[in-house]
Amino acid sequence: MTERARLTDSFLEIVTRRNAGQDEFLQAVRDVAEDVITVEKNNPKWAQAKVLERLTEPDRLIRFRVTWMDEAGVMQINRGWRVQMSNAIGPYKGGLRFHPGVNPSVLKFLAFEQVFKNALTGLPLGGAKGGSDFDPRGRSDAEIMRFCHAFMAELSRYIGPDVDVPAGDINVGTREIGWLFGAYKQSAGAFHGALTGKGEAFGGSAMRVEATGYGLIYFVQAMLAHAGRMLEGQRVAISGKGNVATHAAEKVICEGGTVVALSDTAGTLLAEDGLSQEAVHWVQARKAAGEDIAGPPRRLGLSFVEAALPWGAAEYDIALPCATQNEVDAAAAKQITDSGAILLAEGANMPLQAGALAHLRDSGINYAPGKASNAGGVAISGLEMSQNAHRRFASAAEIDAELKTLMQDIHQRILDEEGGGTRIDYARGANVAAYRRVADALSAMGAV
Ligand code: GLU
Repeated sequence: MTERARLTDSFLEIVTRRNAGQDEFLQAVRDVAEDVITVEKNNPKWAQAKVLERLTEPDRLIRFRVTWMDEAGVMQINRGWRVQMSNAIGPYKGGLRFHPGVNPSVLKFLAFEQVFKNALTGLPLGGAKGGSDFDPRGRSDAEIMRFCHAFMAELSRYIGPDVDVPAGDINVGTREIGWLFGAYKQSAGAFHGALTGKGEAFGGSAMRVEATGYGLIYFVQAMLAHAGRMLEGQRVAISGKGNVATHAAEKVICEGGTVVALSDTAGTLLAEDGLSQEAVHWVQARKAAGEDIAGPPRRLGLSFVEAALPWGAAEYDIALPCATQNEVDAAAAKQITDSGAILLAEGANMPLQAGALAHLRDSGINYAPGKASNAGGVAISGLEMSQNAHRRFASAAEIDAELKTLMQDIHQRILDEEGGGTRIDYARGANVAAYRRVADALSAMGAV
């Protein structure tokens, strides 16, 4: 057993004791600990500050009841949470997710990842995540609005532009942020940017909606360029049909690539010759209407395969899991490498199960972890915060150019960490570069 494995195991023992049964959280912690444990051990300041142990214990985990009334006049009770993980380098920052699968383990893993992702952007952003077990599926617009207002009635006392700045995540888009912001503004009695992802009419940034998906593709382009390749002419399989997946698809098509698949829980849309922008817009409209992607109109030239995953598509070079955590198991990872894919970049947060990650890391595929490749969304949230603070609005062209630079800078930070060369361990580079930034800050502050 290597020293690294021994140190990781004994560290994980402590974290497991404190967080028994929180599998997603423990999975995310192990993934980072394996890469940074010896870095910490070899730096007396960081070791003495117990940075990793501190980062695995949230600053605060807030839980509250959300009570709201449905269309039928029946009282509904949900749970709401905010995990404020670390504000070592800036105000707490991270999205809100509304999904029946939301629980403390999922939110703690997401908040932990967010600390590292936000540090990688180079912006002054701490890490947090929140949400509710509320399921918006089958709910009317009025019910979702009432839920958002009830949720914010509780959350508002814990957030603020210099304290904690939530944004969207799964099932929380521009519309929900509008409702949440309305309730926040009312309870705070002030107009300030305590949320990002707002509509452009009230302080939102241009390009925030597109940022995660477009940023993912800018990161992939940086990886390809480093390997002496281009996106043009590459075939790309994408899982998911949400904000990240469809904007990534849109950007791939703009850049001359071919999107061969998009998917949802009902199945996969396949297009041998590539999806058109019109097909992507059709998927976006179905998602907005709360419908699945089965039965595409004939004119779009797509086939729909029920219950299939996108990884079974014929011949693709790039795989982009953009749906949700742990969506790719070891068998799917094997399917991806068997397809001949040369690159996998995560649009979702932790979409690979541990077995899938091990397979991909062994296979030698060029692999980018979400904390690097999907950081474009939170990076533009960071720019939204500074636009709000300066009471200015930057144009879409300006923000798009900044997004591209931010993603290239993240890529460069990883290269610098890994010492260049052709075979880059992006996962290690991202974990260590982010850790260094937070560790420097934390260890300078003493016992806080
Ligand atoms: N939910 C997004 C993420 O996973 C964005 C968070 C934000 O903009 O604060 O990074």
